[in-house]
Amino acid sequence: MNVPFLDLKQQYLGIKDEILAAVSNVFESTQFVLGKEVTAFEEEFAAFSGAKYGIAVNSGTSALHLALLAAGVGPGDEVITVPCTFVATVAAVEYTGAKPVFVDVDPVTYTMDPAKIEAAITPKTKAILPVHLYGNPADMDPILEIARRRGLLVIEDAAQAHGAEYKGRRCGSMGDLGCFSFYPGKNLGAYGEGGLVTTNSPEFTRTIRMLRDWGAEKKYHHLLKGYNYRMEGVQGAVLRVKLRYLEAWTEARRAHAVAYRNILSESGLALPTEIAGNRHVYHVYAVLTPRRQEFMDSLHSQGVQTGIHYPIPVHLMPAHADLGYGSGSFPVSEHVAAQEVSLPMFPEMTGEQIRAVGQAVANFQSVCV
Ligand SMILES: *Cc1c(COP(=O)(O)O)cnc(C)c1O
Repeated sequence: MNVPFLDLKQQYLGIKDEILAAVSNVFESTQFVLGKEVTAFEEEFAAFSGAKYGIAVNSGTSALHLALLAAGVGPGDEVITVPCTFVATVAAVEYTGAKPVFVDVDPVTYTMDPAKIEAAITPKTKAILPVHLYGNPADMDPILEIARRRGLLVIEDAAQAHGAEYKGRRCGSMGDLGCFSFYPGKNLGAYGEGGLVTTNSPEFTRTIRMLRDWGAEKKYHHLLKGYNYRMEGVQGAVLRVKLRYLEAWTEARRAHAVAYRNILSESGLALPTEIAGNRHVYHVYAVLTPRRQEFMDSLHSQGVQTGIHYPIPVHLMPAHADLGYGSGSFPVSEHVAAQEVSLPMFPEMTGEQIRAVGQAVANFQSVCV
């Protein structure tokens, strides 16, 4: 049986009529950039995330970039983040001219280890940027406590964590600013690129609204040096339709994770951990295995697609060698990068497909022992 890694086509077919009607309305209105669909989506997504304001932009990377700029991060500053993430987290810090400073991740959740933060703070530190990796919330209470005590801002990279919760609070609503991506493969995906910043601050909201649109308060009155980071009207319309399904899709992912845990409990793989009281949204169903290549080859030969998120921690990427970290700097992040395999995970998966993945894993184990 073939099990794809994800199936955006199937999801589209299920909502096709609503999507085509919504997109057609945008074309009729000719509000191709920003416009009322985007404004309505901003309000709806902010409410979904438990934040007061939402500012829609053209990617998750842009959301991070503008959140950092609004926080006042710039040349000469340092931002504490993790190397166990998608490269965009780190790239966005560098766009501002600031320096990313890494701390390692926790060996259970693979998110920022709060015990490592204090030692990384210097007089130049301006903000802490935790990542809710794979849809699993970072341990926010100690991060927020350190930030408050040391006068730092907290920006959440929630690009993989739409609807995830930490002790009942939604990701993106706990720090000073939250950043989301709507890249098509994310839990809430546009039909193109998209992103959004959440915040409770009217000042940050005003600044980011200007920055995304050439720094203008109103047309041709440029108060700030800005960017063309506006969300397209079509993406706002598509995202509004899809947002109505997101809770059901998230619950489906969570049910698949329960099924995986049951089927894989004897597999010898390190399975994802949901901390009690939190809500993991399983953007990625990440398992660890010391025999990654053989494991993946075996699953692929049995028709099961897999991925790696991510094979190289950011501090060991040639592009970021200038940060001066070497191999061994962040052992947990390096361990995750060496052993991680992402199993198929998408809301439309069937019980039969999950069992097929379980069987493929069992077949691999039986030839190994
Ligand atoms: C996807 C992602 C981003 C970047 O979002 P884009 O919309 O692709 O620009 C940033 N951080 C993390 C953790 C991501 O997964």
